[in-house]
Amino acid sequence: ATGSNVHTYFEGRWHKGDIPVMRAADHAMWLGSSVFDGARYFEGVAPDLLAHCRRVNASAEALMITPTVSAEEMVAIVWEGLSAYPKSAAVYIRPMYWALEGGHLGVLPKQGATGFAIALEEIPMAPPETATTLCRTRFRRPVLEDAVVNAKAGCLYPNNARMLAEARDKGFGNALVADALGNVAETATANVFMVRDGEIFTPIPNGTFLAGITRARHIANLRADGLRVHETVLSFEDFHAADEVFLTGNMMKVTPVTGFEDTSYQIGPVTRRARALYWDWALSQRA
Ligand code: PMP
Repeated sequence: ATGSNVHTYFEGRWHKGDIPVMRAADHAMWLGSSVFDGARYFEGVAPDLLAHCRRVNASAEALMITPTVSAEEMVAIVWEGLSAYPKSAAVYIRPMYWALEGGHLGVLPKQGATGFAIALEEIPMAPPETATTLCRTRFRRPVLEDAVVNAKAGCLYPNNARMLAEARDKGFGNALVADALGNVAETATANVFMVRDGEIFTPIPNGTFLAGITRARHIANLRADGLRVHETVLSFEDFHAADEVFLTGNMMKVTPVTGFEDTSYQIGPVTRRARALYWDWALSQRA
């Protein structure tokens, strides 16, 4: 699939467009041994790019795939690729590793036989108040004993896809997902925050969901601004009692939520503040 203004880094250089990188015999093609990360370039900055590059290397190690590019080298390669875009462009940055061959009994990835690519694609940032709605889903986040939840692994995402299919079929934008104990974990594609009486709450990382890089950045920004952010255990009932709900993730940074099942929310002052603080911080990173 070719998106808009795509570039691909593969085997040591940048290529224009979406080029074939995987073969039928690749381990990842039939056994799902692939990891990725997602970062963003917009308004001349790539917020937390080094953290995203570090995380894709950690994700590879969690799947026993040998990472072959240091995070610092990866940052330099990304900036080289971004030079093909106008400064005003917004670009999605996706580094990926996958296993090429099986070692022990075929299923264990063979050490050092690693594919690496970075995809760049021009995707505009959503206008500030582009909101979504949430529903409950019967699918849950697995625990570490069920799946490699300590990695951003491609093989986890079919589970998220069926959450999104359920949400779409019920007429909602995304799904609010439970962890194995039935507490709120995240959504199918982003972390979640709620506001009540001016204080901010978000699920405490418990190893079942992705404790996002954007999530951590927002927590730091909001606390530095004097707001109280609690990482805690949250139930679905807590979300019905919230004044504001918003999502955080690399793609859109902050997404206001205007409904959860039959509960409606306004786009409120804390959601707007989170966005303003994120943009102020991001633009302060300009070289
Ligand atoms: N949870 C899931 C399931 C995600 O796919 C993402 C975005 N990739 C996030 C949370 C947000 O993480 P980050 O802020 O690191 O992009």
